[in-house]
Amino acid sequence: MSKVIAIANQKGGVGKTTTSVNLSACLASLGKKVLLIDIDPQGNTTSGLGINKGDVSNCIYDVLINEVHPKDTILETAIPGLHIIPATIQLAGAEIELVPTISREQRLKKAISLVRDQYDYVMIDCPPSLGILTINSLTAADSVLIPIQCEYYALEGLSQLLNTVRLVQKHLNTSLQIEGVLLTMLDARTNLGLQVIEEVKKYFQQKVYQTIIPRNVRLSEAPSHGQAIISYDPKSKGAEVYLELAKEVISFEKVSR
Ligand code: ADP
Ligand code: MG
Repeated sequence: MSKVIAIANQKGGVGKTTTSVNLSACLASLGKKVLLIDIDPQGNTTSGLGINKGDVSNCIYDVLINEVHPKDTILETAIPGLHIIPATIQLAGAEIELVPTISREQRLKKAISLVRDQYDYVMIDCPPSLGILTINSLTAADSVLIPIQCEYYALEGLSQLLNTVRLVQKHLNTSLQIEGVLLTMLDARTNLGLQVIEEVKKYFQQKVYQTIIPRNVRLSEAPSHGQAIISYDPKSKGAEVYLELAKEVISFEKVSR
């Protein structure tokens, strides 16, 4: 049974892409078959895995708008077991182009249904908005993983996200669950980080992952080398924590929290 996880938060810079790339790579390194879908027009997941966007002939845009079969867009990556459907800037037009189309919220779900049986996990890196691309992702997903940056306004904007999740549950995807809440970019030297952890745990309780992602400069360097952290610097703290997170995600395969 495969699981489709959307990685979403309409705030930018909270660690969605870093988590999408590195959690997916770690799941693959633990023997899982993983498809990572980049649905952010910025295409940072695509370039972060070393794919030159100029060389991409079909991307997620073609799947959503031109009904290209997803198998004709899937690329292999340098990590065995990790495949990707890339995004290019062409996707920026999709928000508008999808508006008048039939069952526009279901496009991604339909596409994923054609390939999901070949994977253990399908991960979706969402854009920093609650527009039609994120709605497609939440409609297609079994669950949503929410990265939250350990900073002052951590919980700001979350009610909007949770409201969107509830609307999708009500109208488009009744079985959508919250997979987990991931605290990212913790600076353990400050009290603020610890306060945020407490606040987020009070709010989300057992949904918060035990694994907390610290600030780690190697994590921010890896994308410019087109590599996941486990290839770029397997001994780094960043590699260690994302591997831990992958094990935690796997441990929830059969239990519901
Ligand atoms: P989002 O996809 O939510 O916009 P990103 O994953 O792109 O966020 O992260 C925003 C920036 O922060 C990027 O430059 C990324 O390299 C950096 N970053 C993310 N997580 C970490 C971390 N744990 N330590 C250091 N830098 C990080
Ligand atoms: Mg991103």
